[in-house]
Amino acid sequence: IGDTEDYDREVNSVCPYCGVGCQLSFKIKDDKIKYVEGLNGPANENRLCVKGRFGFDYVAHGHRLTKPMIRREDAPEKGLNVDPANPWTHFREATWEEALDVAAGGMAKIRDEKGGKGIAGFGSAKCSNEEAYLFQKLIRQGFGHNNVDHCTRLCHASSVAALMENVGSAAVTATFNEIENADVAIVIGANPTENHPVAATYFKQFAKRGGKLIVMDPRGQGLKRHASHMLQFRPGADVSMLNAIMNVIVEEGLYDQQYIEAFTENWDAMKSHLKDFTPEKMEEICGIPAATLREVAREFANARAGMIFWGMGVSQHIHGTDNSRCLISLALMCGHVGRPGTGLHPLRGQNNVQGASDAGMIPMFLPDYQSVEDDGVRSAFKDIWKQGDVDSQRGLTVVEIMDAIHDGQISSMYILGENPAMSDPDAGHARDALAKLEHLVVQDIFLTETANYADVILPASAWAEKTGTVTNTNRQVQMGRPAVAPPGEAREDWAITVDLAKRLGLDWSYTHPREVFAEMKLSMKSLENITWDRLETENAVTYPSLSATDPGQPIVFSDGFPRSEGRAKFTPASIIAPDEVPDTEFPMILTTGRQLEHWHTGSMTRRATVLDAVEPEANASMHPRTLRRLGIEPGEKMTIETRRGSISIMARADRAVSEDMVFVPFAYVEAAANMLTNPALDPYGKIPEFKFSACRVSKATQE
Ligand code: SF4
Repeated sequence: IGDTEDYDREVNSVCPYCGVGCQLSFKIKDDKIKYVEGLNGPANENRLCVKGRFGFDYVAHGHRLTKPMIRREDAPEKGLNVDPANPWTHFREATWEEALDVAAGGMAKIRDEKGGKGIAGFGSAKCSNEEAYLFQKLIRQGFGHNNVDHCTRLCHASSVAALMENVGSAAVTATFNEIENADVAIVIGANPTENHPVAATYFKQFAKRGGKLIVMDPRGQGLKRHASHMLQFRPGADVSMLNAIMNVIVEEGLYDQQYIEAFTENWDAMKSHLKDFTPEKMEEICGIPAATLREVAREFANARAGMIFWGMGVSQHIHGTDNSRCLISLALMCGHVGRPGTGLHPLRGQNNVQGASDAGMIPMFLPDYQSVEDDGVRSAFKDIWKQGDVDSQRGLTVVEIMDAIHDGQISSMYILGENPAMSDPDAGHARDALAKLEHLVVQDIFLTETANYADVILPASAWAEKTGTVTNTNRQVQMGRPAVAPPGEAREDWAITVDLAKRLGLDWSYTHPREVFAEMKLSMKSLENITWDRLETENAVTYPSLSATDPGQPIVFSDGFPRSEGRAKFTPASIIAPDEVPDTEFPMILTTGRQLEHWHTGSMTRRATVLDAVEPEANASMHPRTLRRLGIEPGEKMTIETRRGSISIMARADRAVSEDMVFVPFAYVEAAANMLTNPALDPYGKIPEFKFSACRVSKATQE
């Protein structure tokens, strides 16, 4: 990493990893990033975590794609079989002209022969807002349908479904920094010390100054030490636990009657639904004593100001939408929305998953969550886009697209910066689907596992090489600036998408992301009063911004909700068992997630020297007693099997994991957690049940 202060220029931008959106400064010498420092951004106030501070040298890694590549005619059969250091057995170099012609030509051929629905697109939550907007526009305008999605489907789609249904908005109601004005905060199904580390520092400070931090998680975690209450409930039992807490609030009359009357609907149905969920009945199901459930209910309801934060432990279930409905109801009945220190905050994962969703890279909504089924909305977009009609039918989601490939409905994909060969549930099924495609165009910075299956690979730019805006978990739109040039012939993603669009017959003439941003403003009310020039000078503006000088509103919905009659809604939720319950054949519970040092499918962090040195080997965690029972020593290899596949992985002892569970991070290709996971979907958010599969574990046999 070298000496600090030894640099010849610096560029201010945003961290490329998680949704906290820390602002940082790249220190550059000889056109290489030497080191990184935190800036005083609204979400981080100079703080950075280990990824933001030390995870930048993947940008200059020798595996970077530097030239377009086309699959060789004599290439071996498609599979996960390409050496990223020597791809020439499978691919040959091409000029940009040739690669773009082949990429667009293949998609156009399928469009003309089979119709536009034969092609689908996965965009990236790692790219800018402008790139996300262009990507969804290309799929909708170029192919005449809505089969466009991205990794939000794998993280918070169920939270978005519940928020849209009950609050009328898909973003947080308050920034996480508002915790400093709260008296009590619930953190459920989230592990911020690993996944949102800088946000976690604010949560710890809150606890330190006397705030009541209530952590609810089937797995122990770093915030436990700072918590006033740690509820380590049974995996999948969220609804029973939350309904029991709400039952206490109703039975003891702790709810905010005035708030409920002024700002909500469906309260009577909610009240009567909760009658049966007494803590005494629910303690057996959720594993939390009735007395603790009562104490937590009183603590949250009686507080002057309370917040709720949640993560993928809540959302990645077949009842993920129900889990979020419960959290929304809990906040509403206590009147903990719309005031300082109150709010609902799903902690968003990727650096720009909020922005990519806002920009319409989802199959049911155009930009700003405007429904594709609404005639007026489609007609307004037709006026702005001037070419082609927007389809009125919702498109397919991530997992549905893989199924549609197997069914023969989809035979081509354009995948930008996503890695479904690693990130999709039942990855074997996803990889088989990718192999079946007639024509796959992958645009990325590395030869990812997904790019192994490509027909054309387009070399793109890393975040530190591009200009564009991103939106973090706090609704803060921030400006990203290029620190270094892309290597070789690699180009910015937006420019590649524009060139493909032109070859597909679209009348696009963008020459800079600022022009795309200007077009986005025509249809996105959320960007009102936010301009490119403002972002250039102010670096961040929170939406909604009420005037040209308003830095934005950290808290929304003080005087009503963007729903009919301005009221939020209570939607009761009943208990639904996980899709795959443990049995004698598969007696344990598999759950998956991230680790502090590695990001998602590992394509960046496993190529970042410091991060990979700290966590170099695929590992899975189990309670020491479980390991002893199975005769496995920590450090030994064990085999984990589900009905979909098996992996061999190093065992790690961790008392935080309950005795019936194994935790596997999903960053490691050599032991890919998603070979095991269950693709069963939540019916509303269409999110897979990553957090619960039945599995069995045994000591690996020596080879
Ligand atoms: Fe980057 Fe998130 Fe860490 Fe901030 S908390 S430095 S945004 S990874």
